[in-house]
Amino acid sequence: MWNNKLRFVATLSALLITGFLITSLVSYYVANKSLSDEINQNTLPLTSDNIYSEIQRDLLRPIFISSLMANDTFVRDWTLAGEEDPDKIIRYLKEIQKRYSTITAFFVSDRTRNYYHSTGILKQVQESDPADQWYYRVRGLKTPYEVNFDRDTADRNKLIVFINYRVFDFDGNYIGATGVGLGAEDVKQLIEVYQKRYGRRIFFINREGEVSLHGSAFQGPTNLHERSGLAAHATRILTSPSVTLSYEQNCDTVHLNSRLVPEFDWYLLVEQTESAAESRILNTLIINLLICAGITGLVLVLANLTIGGYQKRLEHMATIDKLTGATNRQAFEVIFDYMAKSAKRRTSNTAAILIDIDLFKQVNDTYGHLAGDAVLQEVANRIRQQIRETDALCRWGGEEFFLLLADCDLQQATQIAENIRQAMKSRLIHYQRNEINITVSQGVAELLPDEELLHFFGRVDEAMYQAKAAGRDRVTPAVQTD
Ligand code: GH3
Ligand code: MG
Ligand code: MG
Repeated sequence: MWNNKLRFVATLSALLITGFLITSLVSYYVANKSLSDEINQNTLPLTSDNIYSEIQRDLLRPIFISSLMANDTFVRDWTLAGEEDPDKIIRYLKEIQKRYSTITAFFVSDRTRNYYHSTGILKQVQESDPADQWYYRVRGLKTPYEVNFDRDTADRNKLIVFINYRVFDFDGNYIGATGVGLGAEDVKQLIEVYQKRYGRRIFFINREGEVSLHGSAFQGPTNLHERSGLAAHATRILTSPSVTLSYEQNCDTVHLNSRLVPEFDWYLLVEQTESAAESRILNTLIINLLICAGITGLVLVLANLTIGGYQKRLEHMATIDKLTGATNRQAFEVIFDYMAKSAKRRTSNTAAILIDIDLFKQVNDTYGHLAGDAVLQEVANRIRQQIRETDALCRWGGEEFFLLLADCDLQQATQIAENIRQAMKSRLIHYQRNEINITVSQGVAELLPDEELLHFFGRVDEAMYQAKAAGRDRVTPAVQTD
């Protein structure tokens, strides 16, 4: 029985564990296998789209302001009128700077080369001055504007993202450059925000492949052509409006999506390492396995309890007589074996009494079968009251009980049998309105050394029949020989 239970629990555990392991591992491998495709085809381009539109929203504003300044009739009229009363343009630049909270606002006249700033005329730009090179570049620009990283002309310590917009007179002749500047730190802050929000590495490169803007955690060379793994792809990135590719860096696969931001003439690069995504899948696998282990444990505990319960009921049903609660004959042989062996070990006596109800058939015939059942129950109860817990009561046949008494010799057993006889006789058994008088005939014997159950029982049975023959309602000790 125990072996069967163990086998069942082991098989159930093996099935559950194998099933859970297979499904968890298969989903892990499938997720891992499709990971690269998923990142390249969906995740990365989508986040890249989001970042692109947010950056457009945040960085297009200064371009828009600069465009307004370049097309402002006041700026053009004042320049064409000979740049008299510089306070007017200075006040105008101050207004722009204040209203749009930019870090700087400027206008450089092509005729006088004066650098007008919100704080005054800062200088005259000169072709020979490296700090003024930007102006001569803008002057020859084919596009209406450029975005340039440079030091502030008013404060050389500050890094600024300048929007340099070309200004034309009403006939389309170039007359100067104007624009605003944003603090580079503010722009870097924006990148930090995007990086955190999307969990990706984000940076910008210009047409030459120089990293123009990046977050604080950016490492390695600042030129695309010098970055490990990326150099091979540099030309492709710098010649296509949008590219999705993967490359190896420090034993990890990096997925990259690039796109041209035409307003800045820069490329936005968004990168994601595969190991970060892999570790998320691994975490999911671990959580899956833990849940599976929990469920397996729970199922096993429940199965164990259920089987245990059924087992107990089956054992009870197989060993106990339902009507009287006494042990049945099958189980009794096991009890006899156990008691005989332990008596032998302790060199103590074991005795037995066979109890047969007198003229029981008449009870059934007179009061009915149910009354007979009630009498059997009451007889069993009265016997139990006369014996100890270590003694074993067995319903041997229809109206016969066999009592096995531990640590008991013939004399003591005869006394117990006498007590039982008195207990039956002294009180009537009440069943419905009937009062039933019951007597019992008993044979008593003490177990001989190495005596078999059958032999022992034969002697007790013989004694019981002698009691019947002698007139019933009596106790007869068996002959102590074989
Ligand atoms: P004796 O004094 O010689 O033992 O007479 P007796 O009537 O007790 O003996 P007999 O063996 O002739 O009858 C036993 C009866 O017990 C017959 C049978 O119908 C009845 N019996 C056996 N098992 C049950 C039971 O579970 N319930 C009931 N109500 N009767 C039972
Ligand atoms: Mg009988
Ligand atoms: Mg009888």
